[in-house]
Amino acid sequence: MANAVTRNNRISGSHLILPSSSIDKKLLLLIPRVDLKAGAKSGVVRDGQFDHSYLNLLSMKYYLLTLTPFFANLSILQAQVSVSDAGRWNKEQVKNERPAVVTPPGHTTDSKPGAVPSDAIVFFDGRDLSKWKGRAKDGNDGANWQVKDGFMEVVRGTGSIQTRNQVEGDCQWHIEWCTPAEVKGNSQGRGNSGVFIGGYPEVQVLDSFKNDTYPDGQASSLYKKSVTLVNASRGPGKWQTYDIICIREKKGADGKVIQPGSITVLHNGVVTQFAVQEGGKAKSGGLSLQDHGNPVRFRNIWARKLVVPRIKPSGN
Ligand code: MG
Repeated sequence: MANAVTRNNRISGSHLILPSSSIDKKLLLLIPRVDLKAGAKSGVVRDGQFDHSYLNLLSMKYYLLTLTPFFANLSILQAQVSVSDAGRWNKEQVKNERPAVVTPPGHTTDSKPGAVPSDAIVFFDGRDLSKWKGRAKDGNDGANWQVKDGFMEVVRGTGSIQTRNQVEGDCQWHIEWCTPAEVKGNSQGRGNSGVFIGGYPEVQVLDSFKNDTYPDGQASSLYKKSVTLVNASRGPGKWQTYDIICIREKKGADGKVIQPGSITVLHNGVVTQFAVQEGGKAKSGGLSLQDHGNPVRFRNIWARKLVVPRIKPSGN
């Protein structure tokens, strides 16, 4: 008997509070009626609460029987309470401001990329480079990297490639990459490539697994701008992930910056750059991948537009 029912329909003894105003009247029918007057007469209820000192076997049975259907319906009540939430959200607000449902990405493994979120803009699904362009030559600006077995691979000397389309505003980018399984070179000469999101510094791609180099040149560093918080690298030949959140600079009506641009990076699910205020002045940007002469591979590249609450300047 850890719970007691009080006059104002609150449940004490647990962490759930049920103000009567927040409960649908129909749901009240689901609550077993507790005769407080009768309870008070018998001494079981005082001041609207159970008095445990008066519980005997008979009343114990009575209340157990009474409360059994109540607890059976508790999950329904909890759901109802979470919708109305004690008046902070009315029904219209709940309906109109409910977050969009997004099917999340699946887990990436070495043999298979993760699924794409349902609201993603896909830039590379492992089949072709039709959404990419490279160094223009003889009227052809197509990307000349190699595509095979579900990934693209840098072809040395063909140049960096970039998406034909851009993503406007705040966004999340997902990129999977893999440095050569056969280790060649060291420091910056080992599995070097890079991710450039329009208007932001290079997010370094490098085989940083037991490969020493200068700190702001390691994988997941913003090249020569911001040292990665940790080295979360997997070994050569293993697929790795970048999830990059780009917040673009916002200005108020007076032209003053009210929210600086920033970039956050997760490397293999680990936060390696957090809200670093570098870049983000452009309103939109595409993605560019670097040809640094090493046969680095990429797959499963997508972006999502973000709706991030914006700071409102005073007076607006
Ligand atoms: Mg690089």
